[in-house]
Amino acid sequence: MTDTESFLKNAANLLGPKGFESDHDALEPWLTDWRGRFTGRAMALASPASTEEVAELVKLCSEFEVPIVPQGGNSGMAGGATPDQSGDAILLSLRRMNTIRSLDREAGQAVCEAGVILQTFHEAAEEAGLRFPLTLGGKGSATIGGLVSTNAGGTQVLRHGTMRAQVLGIEAVLANGEIFNGLIALKKDNRGFDLKQLLIGSEGTLGIVTAVNLRLLPEPRGRIVAWAGLDSVTTARALLRHMEQGLGDTLEGFEIVPDHCLTSVLDHLPDSRAPLANRHSWNALIELVATREDVDSLRNRVEDALANAMENGLLEDAVLAANETQAEDFWLLRDSIAPAERAIGPAVQHDISVPVERMPEFILAAIPKVEAAFAGTKGVAFGHLGDGNVHFHVLAPQGTVSGDWEVTTGKAISRVVYDLVSEWGGSISAEHGIGQLKVDELERLGDPASLSMMRSVKHAMDPKGLLNPGKLLSHA
Ligand SMILES: Cc1cc2nc3c(=O)[nH]c(=O)nc-3n(C[C@H](O)[C@H](O)[C@H](O)COP(=O)(O)OP(=O)(O)OC[C@H]3O[C@@H](n4cnc5c(N)ncnc54)[C@H](O)[C@@H]3O)c2cc1C
Repeated sequence: MTDTESFLKNAANLLGPKGFESDHDALEPWLTDWRGRFTGRAMALASPASTEEVAELVKLCSEFEVPIVPQGGNSGMAGGATPDQSGDAILLSLRRMNTIRSLDREAGQAVCEAGVILQTFHEAAEEAGLRFPLTLGGKGSATIGGLVSTNAGGTQVLRHGTMRAQVLGIEAVLANGEIFNGLIALKKDNRGFDLKQLLIGSEGTLGIVTAVNLRLLPEPRGRIVAWAGLDSVTTARALLRHMEQGLGDTLEGFEIVPDHCLTSVLDHLPDSRAPLANRHSWNALIELVATREDVDSLRNRVEDALANAMENGLLEDAVLAANETQAEDFWLLRDSIAPAERAIGPAVQHDISVPVERMPEFILAAIPKVEAAFAGTKGVAFGHLGDGNVHFHVLAPQGTVSGDWEVTTGKAISRVVYDLVSEWGGSISAEHGIGQLKVDELERLGDPASLSMMRSVKHAMDPKGLLNPGKLLSHA
């Protein structure tokens, strides 16, 4: 029996038929990333049902030196959960570990296994009269383990922070199969390094997250969602500051949508309509949440703040969603930008951040620069202005056929965009992570001292380099 046969036999025995699959057809759906950019091969799909099974499997992988690619909902945007082409690795899916182990109303904490889907967790929290304050478009697929491993952001970061801010404790299996039990939440604990922080955002390269203790907040009394029409992105920033000053205790989301994106969405979404009677160069989607006061009193405050903003030239027009259905419709317009743009033709996407106060200036400088360098392209920037993070998409010239363009011109465009972001003191990955998509760019533009520290940590925690090789760092 070869080593591979021996490994497969042992792993199959360990996990049983429900937890182990080596048939190529059964594996296929999990071998391509969400955006369809990367496809790999794997020798098997392992789906353990408990932390102990993960630990035993990781020990086996260590013994046979089999690389492991952890996977949650496979909704990541950077190809981090897709194996390479060698077929040497196993895919380690956490989807079967989907129990909410506990939900403590009084403490405002819940311990979820890694495979719990975000939407399911939202529903469980709501049932208990609580709320988990992180959401994003992929919530029907993204898992708690994946969200932690990518330190996901979403549309409520402005008030509540990224996933890192929601994590109180972590249980994980380390590269040698040891179980790190850091689930208990202590408000004060100064026994050296905060090891859970290393695992958050490590994209499966330092350990397999098996369970997470998450903070929950009381359910809000309601929300107000507003759509504002603006003359420029600079005014959008001024409006954000205005809203922060008057309503900072309630402001949860501030998203910008240029008119070009709104047009694409209206063309793409059947039965959709623009929230305002006239069109504006820029739009802001603003969400405010009533936690202590009642919703009517928040509505009055928001109306006053918007009226005042209009008097001061910070917006051209605005409307408040009349009810929850309309609020959802406004958000649907925002969430449909990416699919609408995709329907138009090829594009290259960049998830970037610069210091919040510099974002309008950056957008105004970067778009013309990229469009001038690549004739016929169209640059658009939309998203989380309040976090200094936008999705900077560059659309191919009209009529371009998808395929070569993305890997040739698209790559050259990305290089220019990332150079600009670096010049402006920003990040080439604001929330999606590095995965395999941006390994080269991180290598090219990353701070050498940071890269060297990351390599040292990786080497110490995974000396054989078996955890998600080729992701985040090109070599340990
Ligand atoms: C429509 C849509 C909208 C989105 N919007 C946002 C957004 O606004 N903000 C944002 O931040 N992201 C967004 N995302 C991206 C995505 O949802 C997140 O990256 C999410 O965190 C990935 O979770 P997942 O379970 O799908 O992980 P996967 O895609 O399966 O994996 C992502 C990475 O985490 C690793 N990993 C997964 N599970 C584990 C584990 N248990 N232990 C160790 N490593 C693990 C994988 O190896 C991989 O490197 C969006 C995605 C979609 C499809």
